[in-house]
Amino acid sequence: MTRHTETAGQYPVIPLRTEVQLPGHVGPLEIGREASVRAIEAATRDDNLIVIIPQRNPAVRDPGQKDLHEVGVRAEIVQVVKHSPGRFTCVMRFHERVHIDALVATEPFLVAAVSPLAPVTTATPEAVLATTNKVRDYLLAVVTDAQAKEGSSSKESSKDSSSKDPKSELSRIQVQAIVDPDKLVDAAAPYLELERDDLTALLVEADTMKRLERIIPSLERQATVLRLKADIGAELEGESSRTHRERVLRDRMRQIQEELGEQDDNAEVDDLRKKIEDSKMGDDVRAVAKKQLSRMSQMASSSPEYNIARTYVENLLEIPWNVTTEDRLDVSAARGILEAEHSGLEKVKRRILEFLAVRKLAPQKHGPILLLVGPPGVGKTSLGKSIASSLGRKYVRISLGGVRDEAEIRGHRRTYIGALPGRIVSGLKKAGTMNPVFVLDEIDKLAADMRGDPAAAMLEVLDPEQNKDFVDHYVEVPVDLSKVMFICTANQLDTISQPLLDRMEVVELSGYTTHEKMAIAKNHLLPKQLGEHGIGKDQLTIDDEALEEVIHSYTREAGVRNLERELAAVCRSVAVRVAEGSGNIEIHKPQLVDLLGPPRHVSDMAERKPEVGVVTGLAWTPVGGDIMFIECRIYPGKGEVRLTGQMGDVMKESATAAVSWVRANATRLGIDHDKIANSDLHIHLPQGAIKKDGPSAGVALTCAVVSVFTRRPIRNDVAITGEIDLRGHALPVGGIKEKVLAAHRAGIKMVFLPARNEKDTLDIPEEIRQQLDFRYMTKIDDALAVALGDAPSTPDPEPAIPPPTAPSSRGSVGERLPS
Ligand code: ADP
Repeated sequence: MTRHTETAGQYPVIPLRTEVQLPGHVGPLEIGREASVRAIEAATRDDNLIVIIPQRNPAVRDPGQKDLHEVGVRAEIVQVVKHSPGRFTCVMRFHERVHIDALVATEPFLVAAVSPLAPVTTATPEAVLATTNKVRDYLLAVVTDAQAKEGSSSKESSKDSSSKDPKSELSRIQVQAIVDPDKLVDAAAPYLELERDDLTALLVEADTMKRLERIIPSLERQATVLRLKADIGAELEGESSRTHRERVLRDRMRQIQEELGEQDDNAEVDDLRKKIEDSKMGDDVRAVAKKQLSRMSQMASSSPEYNIARTYVENLLEIPWNVTTEDRLDVSAARGILEAEHSGLEKVKRRILEFLAVRKLAPQKHGPILLLVGPPGVGKTSLGKSIASSLGRKYVRISLGGVRDEAEIRGHRRTYIGALPGRIVSGLKKAGTMNPVFVLDEIDKLAADMRGDPAAAMLEVLDPEQNKDFVDHYVEVPVDLSKVMFICTANQLDTISQPLLDRMEVVELSGYTTHEKMAIAKNHLLPKQLGEHGIGKDQLTIDDEALEEVIHSYTREAGVRNLERELAAVCRSVAVRVAEGSGNIEIHKPQLVDLLGPPRHVSDMAERKPEVGVVTGLAWTPVGGDIMFIECRIYPGKGEVRLTGQMGDVMKESATAAVSWVRANATRLGIDHDKIANSDLHIHLPQGAIKKDGPSAGVALTCAVVSVFTRRPIRNDVAITGEIDLRGHALPVGGIKEKVLAAHRAGIKMVFLPARNEKDTLDIPEEIRQQLDFRYMTKIDDALAVALGDAPSTPDPEPAIPPPTAPSSRGSVGERLPS
């Protein structure tokens, strides 16, 4: 019992690099530095006493006096555990703070002369007492909690006292027994998770009052957290629902964060909150967005729910609430833009200008929705763009082709994984304004299936009565579509549902003539392609003959889409030469084969001769008009009829009617009844893979049947269209303009139309009308009289034709169909 009580004296020193130890507990110390190992060895040979002193700078390896604080702790070595030579852990009991008077030796280890640290205080004893009591109360709360935790964990783990956390060794009674304020501070410190600097300050501070005050804030925090935890515990008692538990915990976490002033931790939520404040969204939308934010602030940012909520808020922010552009309702400027961007299309342009004029005069009126109908490549979409630019509005195009799912229009509910708003709301986001021009492309190709009816959703979008409050399933809050200007495009009207059609005003665009295509190519397509390929205007010219060749031999279409593609191909081929520095390049017709390859469409009119049983009909398709050959053959049989070439039901009925009419009028037409009874008839439409339907081939089918039975050939430069009835009338049909343009493209000279279709020819450009010989018929006989030539003088070749099971002369054999 010599030096255990007398503090002053000389002791081996262990400098501590990173740790700071305060008196009052037992704990382990890692010893690694050689000098420290020597010091421990010396102490264990003597009285096990040592002084530990924290370093001022942890980086110093061999500290001198100036590198050490002037206060340390006198400690007693309780146990030494050797890991390897020169590395061990000492369990120490830390006794009291000492003042380092001097280092009396530095080799082979540090030795310090120390003296007891006299407690000082500037405060009154009452103040010190009061503060001490306060600290004690807090510490009691903290210690109680630590013991409660220990109690519960010891139920689970073994009661191995060596694994106990040293700081939980204090009991409430022990705390209550600590009278000395400095000892109280030392006892409290391990519970407070203090930083090294705070611990060092507590170690070196001589003033008791200051030491007490220094730990009060941390103790207070610790006690608050404990109190809230206790509340949660009470609330959760008996509550088994996991979600409820989570909610309560998150609430508390937020409260704790608020109490600790850490509320603004989540920068992302704050950022979104600011954006919501700055956004022009309406109050109702803002409320929804804020609600999501407050949900987010209670969730872990890694949770899927958090991300769903964030995506939702971001989507809300991207919708251009209340952002609009000002309309430029200047009709003459609009006319200028339309004229500059599109050749021809006079009727359509006039209709668009009327539309804009009405907008100007009655801005509040919604006005009809324009539906531009026509074959591909006639400029429907690009007209929509021009309308947007002439109005000074933003332009968005949405393709509806093949949309089968209502959710594509209206969005998926947020409960779906990866849910997003539908195309309408996405379009608004893209436009960045609430009043863009929206081109809804291919509205005729909307399809319904079990995933809902997108056309029904479109009805709501386009209905001026309903679209003020359009509800997207994802967005959920109503979005105002009433300021959007919708323009729809379609290739055909048949597939558009009637209610949808009722909401729109149809503007028809038909295919272009060669002349019009030339003008479009010269004024628009070629300059555009030159620009896109970086070729100067004067560097490439295509002469008229070559351009016409491109139109006739490389494209066969109603619009100009392929023409644009071919011109792009010419530009590409020429680009190399331009890049190499060639001057002006002129393209003439003979060069096209080099640039574009051999012609793709050769008019077979030139090679065709009048033939028996082959008629040129005219077809209308959504992609424009086309010519269509009808072939007919007979061979010995039993009067059966075969129809092949993908005819639809209506066309089959037409063919049956044609055959019946011919049979009924056989005598008059000079056909032998026995020949009909003993022949099988095969009608085939080449291009067998393409479906064909409609009644308009009636007259042509009849001509073919008459031709084959009478052996009179049909003129090859004639095209025929018209429906028939059994009385032999030629009935009017649709699509006259497209059909006539197609006939002209194919090199036909004479076109037979039902008399009641004469009015439709007024739409046909004058130049075409000039070049075609129109014949109007009221009866089938009118066509027969002109189209069929005289019967050849050669004998009837029928007996030589192979029997019915063999392929027909053109190699097309179809299934046997009922006649
Ligand atoms: P659609 O929507 O009818 O299928 P697009 O609008 O896509 O056709 O037109 C195809 C291309 O042809 C576009 O580059 C367009 O500018 C051009 N085009 C079509 N018609 C005209 C025209 N009358 N004047 C100028 N360019 C035209």
